[in-house]
Amino acid sequence: MGNIDVEDYFKNNVEPYIFDHPFNMSILIGKDKNGDFDVLYANKLAISYFRQESKATATKFFGDLWVPVRKKIQKLRIQRNYKTSVLLKADLFNLDLQRRTEESGREFIFIELRNQLNTLVNRDVSSELKREYRSVIENNLDPIMSIDEHYQVTYANAAVHTAFGHCGKILSGSSILDLLKREEIEAFKVFLSRALAGESVEREGLSFVHESGYYLPVYLKAIPVLAEDQVQEIHLIIRDTSIHQKNNEKLLYLSYHDQLTGIWNRHAMKEHFKKDSEYLRGREENLSFIHLDLDRFKLINESLGQDGADDILKKIAERLRVICPETARLYRNGGDEFVITLQNASATVTERVAQTILAEFQKPFYYNRLEYFISVSIGIAVYPEDGKTLEELLRRSEQALAFVKERGRSHYRFYQEEMNSSFPDEALMESHLRRAIELEELSIHYQPQVDLKTGMISSFEALLRWNNRKFGFVSPGQFIPIAEESGLIHEIGNWVLDQVCKQLKEWQEKRFRPVRVAVNISPKQFRKETFVDRVKAKIEHYGICPSSLEVEITESALTDMTETLGILNELKKIGVFISVDDFGTGYSSLSYLKQYPIDIIKIDRSFIQDIESDAKNEAIAKTIINLAHNLGMEVVAEGVEKDLQAQILLEANCQKAQGFLYSRAVPVEELVEKYLACEL
Ligand code: C2E
Ligand code: CA
Ligand code: CA
Repeated sequence: MGNIDVEDYFKNNVEPYIFDHPFNMSILIGKDKNGDFDVLYANKLAISYFRQESKATATKFFGDLWVPVRKKIQKLRIQRNYKTSVLLKADLFNLDLQRRTEESGREFIFIELRNQLNTLVNRDVSSELKREYRSVIENNLDPIMSIDEHYQVTYANAAVHTAFGHCGKILSGSSILDLLKREEIEAFKVFLSRALAGESVEREGLSFVHESGYYLPVYLKAIPVLAEDQVQEIHLIIRDTSIHQKNNEKLLYLSYHDQLTGIWNRHAMKEHFKKDSEYLRGREENLSFIHLDLDRFKLINESLGQDGADDILKKIAERLRVICPETARLYRNGGDEFVITLQNASATVTERVAQTILAEFQKPFYYNRLEYFISVSIGIAVYPEDGKTLEELLRRSEQALAFVKERGRSHYRFYQEEMNSSFPDEALMESHLRRAIELEELSIHYQPQVDLKTGMISSFEALLRWNNRKFGFVSPGQFIPIAEESGLIHEIGNWVLDQVCKQLKEWQEKRFRPVRVAVNISPKQFRKETFVDRVKAKIEHYGICPSSLEVEITESALTDMTETLGILNELKKIGVFISVDDFGTGYSSLSYLKQYPIDIIKIDRSFIQDIESDAKNEAIAKTIINLAHNLGMEVVAEGVEKDLQAQILLEANCQKAQGFLYSRAVPVEELVEKYLACEL
């Protein structure tokens, strides 16, 4: 390929639709200088596929792809095989195109660069080469005409007939100017004069008449054929760009829309925001970003498989589309996240949309005629208060979202300054978290659980706090998921368990009145084989009473029936209390409750927060309380913030409540002073 930049050359010249195809992988294969086959160009999809990277990095070197590509070629079925030649700039290429498919239906397009014939602008065109050129022109997919310096058509290939309906033979001898719009003739002459002077030229914006009388927009390329420095004739490539326009429109559509759901994608969000922020600059208007994240969608993915999950995502998008106000825009932000933008909406209007969404998710989704309940958490950020760039706004809405998630999900929140953890990214957070124990940045706060009838406090929940020396306070809703993903949760979980047992021992020695402390156990920790032994060892090591310790396990950790039952039974043998956290938000069936040795059910905050105004939540909470009581379990309501909520819970016979109404989680000194040192 000489010194031509293969990527630029092909991207700009060979059917961009093939090369940058959004679904197919295109790979250009050719011989390198040594005559060995190599990958000369691969589109983004192909690069990420063959390099097994999630994101294709821009590259001009494809050498490493040849080995995996060759292996792949051998395994694939040929679906279509065709030859074509391209006549570009002044170079001729013969291409072999092969469409090959995988069993899954995924398509690969292999384009083999057969031979690059010499340039047309060549003085010593041998007769053999001439014949070869002629055949390339005759069979070329592009319409090509030859004309002389008097604008007379001397030849037209078959593609001219296909594209414009004119028969080559009839055209021969007529003037090409007759095919042009009268008002464009001058422009055409100017264009051609450069080719007549020996230059290869191209232009768009002119039209050619179709045999049936209408005009088609065309791209023109004029290549002078020289002999002895004299222009012999001009090859004129005339591409009908109306098809191109349609392809472009299609490509444009594809690049702006999510393939699965058909709604706008993230790319569109970026483009729209560019325009919006220009418009908004200097105006008093705002733009709300309602950021939705499906709660625990991973479980749907696991139980229904990819197809099922995709189907549900489509239905969710459809439902959102229906409820979106007319001026709103709906985007899929990848995965199980959606974003709705509202132009110049007041906080009340934005809130109303968020409420409508939540209400819409109260209804089940169907797949294979089975009902699935999916809840959604919503974080809201508003331009310009919360951010002026898209990245900032999305980060803020995500922080608000994280805030909702950590407080029981299925609710919405507007972004607030205090949600902002100043960690620039998760990787950095993880590396700091690794050293958090050693640097003594972690501590435990305790939130009291109040007996609704008597007001007495005899149990607490231990909640982890992280005060990073560089970035300050980080909420567990942010760092616990990172600890879980990185495996750090084992070390951190052990530390919490150890601290709590040590604390209990100290209180026991000081002869404070006996209290129980609940420790949050992450599902990963719970499933680790050594978990039960560890709990036992800690209790023995500190010599504490087993019933002063409670393990809090989320509902989602209890899915595998036999395994779970074994672990729980062993824990019960030790004598610790077992509670189920965030009850009502998991997907597990209620039937397990009967069989597991569970002592306490903690009703998730999402049912409590509007229990006083939402009859359904009130009914759910009451049902959970009744059910738990029938099974001999105690009930703790989480997230109680208002008197009225406590009132309703008391009437429903709920034993205990935990929430800001009574106290936030407090440091150990405060706990001792307030609740232990004096008799209550
Ligand atoms: P969780 O186990 O559901 O803990 C209750 C969360 O609700 C706590 O948030 C608590 O501060 C908050 N909360 C309590 N009362 C109210 C209220 O009235 N209103 C509102 N809005 N919120 C209330 P926190 O401390 O930020 O913890 C978030 C989550 O992080 C916890 O949710 C738990 O899942 C996890 N976590 C905390 N400590 C630990 C730990 O030691 N180990 C593990 N594995 N997870 C932990
Ligand atoms: Ca908890
Ligand atoms: Ca909880």
